[in-house]
Amino acid sequence: MTSQARHAEIAGAGIAGLGLACQLAEAGWTVRVHERASEVRESGAGIALGQNGVDAMRTIGAFDRGILGGSKVRYWNIVDQWGRVVQEEHLSTELYSIPRSSLLRALHERALALGVDVVTRSPVHGARPGCLVLADGRELPGDLIVGADGTRSQVRDSLLNHGLRVRRIDLKVAGLRACMPAVPSDPSDAMLEWLSGQRRVGLIPLDGKDLVAIYMFCPPQDRPGRRVPLDVASWRASYPQLEGVFERVPPDSSWGEVWETHCSSWSVGNVALIGDAAFSMAPNLGQGGCTALQAAISMTKSLQAAAAVEEGLKRWEAQERPHVDYVQRWSGRYSRLCSKTPGPFLRGRSRVFGTWGRSKRLNDRFAGVEARLLASA
Ligand SMILES: Cc1cc2nc3c(=O)[nH]c(=O)nc-3n(C[C@H](O)[C@H](O)[C@H](O)COP(=O)(O)OP(=O)(O)OC[C@H]3O[C@@H](n4cnc5c(N)ncnc54)[C@H](O)[C@@H]3O)c2cc1C
Repeated sequence: MTSQARHAEIAGAGIAGLGLACQLAEAGWTVRVHERASEVRESGAGIALGQNGVDAMRTIGAFDRGILGGSKVRYWNIVDQWGRVVQEEHLSTELYSIPRSSLLRALHERALALGVDVVTRSPVHGARPGCLVLADGRELPGDLIVGADGTRSQVRDSLLNHGLRVRRIDLKVAGLRACMPAVPSDPSDAMLEWLSGQRRVGLIPLDGKDLVAIYMFCPPQDRPGRRVPLDVASWRASYPQLEGVFERVPPDSSWGEVWETHCSSWSVGNVALIGDAAFSMAPNLGQGGCTALQAAISMTKSLQAAAAVEEGLKRWEAQERPHVDYVQRWSGRYSRLCSKTPGPFLRGRSRVFGTWGRSKRLNDRFAGVEARLLASA
């Protein structure tokens, strides 16, 4: 079936919206993306892309621009509060870490080169089968309507009137991510993570020379923990070994909440949800953006193979959802283990991490999720 004349209206110019726009445009669709912000931009923090995200960027044609300037990560080590290395993993699959701004810029440029119309200052109010509804009341018809408008998706919420059921789970963890100037003692080819009580800190190189990303998590009720500018003394007390790290966290960094989203369906009629709008997850496995890119590629393939958009979307969900659900489930477990383990059980937690790290079944299954895209390319 040819899709020459088909048209898509997409809400949100984030990783999911732009990734999908590129794929649809490459397949011959006309595509318009609506972004409420005044420009397509993501600043500040870094992002890690595992094998599925890296492969997706290659498929989309944005790998060179988006990823080559980043750092290739070869090790992922986790250290507990007693200084024991509870996970020491030499990665057998590709993992790159890059500034988010580079990733988004590469997707944006690729979308423009493919003829996608990216409209900024264009807030979306919602959708119903057949059309996207802008905040100014205009209704834009399309063969495909997409909510890629993030974890607080208005498109998703508007589908509640059309039978969609949504469960959002507050994981009760506060997260901060920021880019900082790198110093020689920072990791250059490893992702390092430290656990201490219910606080967690990670460092990951970004461009291999000047920049390093930090991510930090603590329970929302940990007031000194989530103070901004950072309460350096409080964090240093949890991590005496991280000399000179907390002082570098930019004072304008902010803490956010972490939500898991579960939808009864990823589509209603010809309206689809993708990325955080459909399946936001705890950020522990570095897979939210990766699964969004992967889902953009598989959605386009399913639509191309189906006679009708509705049918293509159902097939896409049937194929993609088991993998996303699996990653989301394990990210959530990781999050709960880190943020909810009571003090007396912390040594047991270290043993659990060690067991997970060594579990062949778990690692094979996860590597399988990541390698799936490569296999089907
Ligand atoms: C601390 C942290 C660390 C993470 N680390 C990683 C990682 O290392 N690797 C990884 O793969 N993932 C990571 N993630 C997850 C990843 O950031 C998200 O899964 C990803 O950004 C989701 O992309 P998205 O396009 O679905 O949503 P978003 O990035 O939220 O983009 C949505 C876009 O829609 C726009 N928008 C919203 N509402 C409207 C509206 N009404 N009208 C028009 N436009 C609208 C927004 O302005 C935005 O541009 C992390 C997340 C967190 C919180």
